[in-house]
Amino acid sequence: MSTDNSKVDITILGAGMAGASLVHFLAPARAAGLSIALIDRQPLSWDKDDSDRPPSFDGRATALSWGTRQILEELGIWNSIAPYACSIDHIQVSDEGRFGQAQLHANEQNTEALGYIIENHRLGHGLLSGLSASDSLHVMAPNSVETVRMTAEGAELILDDGRTLTTTLLIMADGGRSPLPRQLGIEQSRKDYGAQALVTQVKCEKPHDHWAYERFSSDGPIAFLPLNKDEYAVVWTLSDDEVDDVLALADDVLIERLQARIGYRVGKISAMGERLTYPLALVKSSEQVRRSLVLLGNAAHSLHPVAGQGFNLTLRDAAVLAEHLNRAAMQGQDVGSLEVLEAYLQQQSADQRNTIAASDLLPRIFGSKAPAVAFLRDAGLLSMAAAPVARRLFARHAMGLGHTAAKLG
Ligand SMILES: Cc1cc2nc3c(=O)[nH]c(=O)nc-3n(C[C@H](O)[C@H](O)[C@H](O)COP(=O)(O)OP(=O)(O)OC[C@H]3O[C@@H](n4cnc5c(N)ncnc54)[C@H](O)[C@@H]3O)c2cc1C
Repeated sequence: MSTDNSKVDITILGAGMAGASLVHFLAPARAAGLSIALIDRQPLSWDKDDSDRPPSFDGRATALSWGTRQILEELGIWNSIAPYACSIDHIQVSDEGRFGQAQLHANEQNTEALGYIIENHRLGHGLLSGLSASDSLHVMAPNSVETVRMTAEGAELILDDGRTLTTTLLIMADGGRSPLPRQLGIEQSRKDYGAQALVTQVKCEKPHDHWAYERFSSDGPIAFLPLNKDEYAVVWTLSDDEVDDVLALADDVLIERLQARIGYRVGKISAMGERLTYPLALVKSSEQVRRSLVLLGNAAHSLHPVAGQGFNLTLRDAAVLAEHLNRAAMQGQDVGSLEVLEAYLQQQSADQRNTIAASDLLPRIFGSKAPAVAFLRDAGLLSMAAAPVARRLFARHAMGLGHTAAKLG
């Protein structure tokens, strides 16, 4: 789009995991004649170096649930990322210095895998490389949106190059730190966990055999997620007080500390990659839908990563939102209508509530050093280790299967 003032039916602001996924779900709306603009301040070309990529697709790795794999398969994206996705066949949950331990196995759940781990840049490549601009899709990147306001017809966006874009429906998928929702009077509630996630990759002297480990250590929860043959993606939650000291440690000292926390179930850790840190908070926006407006992904809710549910939930949100928008488009209805958007939120609200509650509860239960909580934790883990039904329910949640499926297309 090269004109100074343009109009589209749907604008997706942000091409991170949320925005890039949603574009794929909206293929039926495009086929029904709607035009879509996808805007991101980062270039979306994969030839650029790492630092230029949208932040969703940085050096982290993401746990995809089994339910997410099924959705990506239906979208036709799974095949391109499957060679880089490592299956999780077994999960061991344990508590440092205590007896409790539980294991989950894919074969007990009659499924091929409990989930998958994929490096974010591979996921980004899969989501973005197939998106080519066309009459119905206008990719505006790198372009930053400076100002947004709601109008009688929808929304109006002013871009950094001075262009104005008007849209019938604005989907804000601009992440958890964007100042733009506040321009519309939408506030965020923020609950800080007083902790940060240290994310890195390690190499171990033992193949992972598709085991993932969730360990509740005296430093905080640690996840070891299988990647390549003998490599794991590590998410280590550290309190704000200790994170700087830990980051200052030399690799060999840090490896020793990590080894002491995880034990030798992963073999001896022989090398560690780049370290990235992310402050941990539960952030929720005060509103998710208004007439002509939806907040999606981290812009709507940003979760503690211990349960690895942020993107999985966002993908289900996007699937259900698209189901309502595609239907409206095919029936010639207004896609910005409050009725359509509220129907989406109503359908997804239980899933959002349950997933957010579980992601908030886990770090509180497993971060607590209080003896009573530790006892309950032991009891919980032991009963789960003993009870197939509890394990199955936990696995269904972790696999992203305890939710109503959206209709794609
Ligand atoms: C340490 C960590 C581990 C995680 N692990 C998992 C996991 O294992 N499984 C899981 O399901 N989830 C996980 N998550 C959550 C997952 O990473 C997030 O759900 C996901 O990144 C959210 O993506 P998003 O598209 O909503 O936001 P973002 O990634 O923040 O994307 C927002 C996009 O909007 C663009 N943008 C912002 N403002 C503007 C503007 N004004 N103009 C133009 N463009 C703009 C940005 O450039 C960016 O590309 C993890 C999160 C963390 C922090």
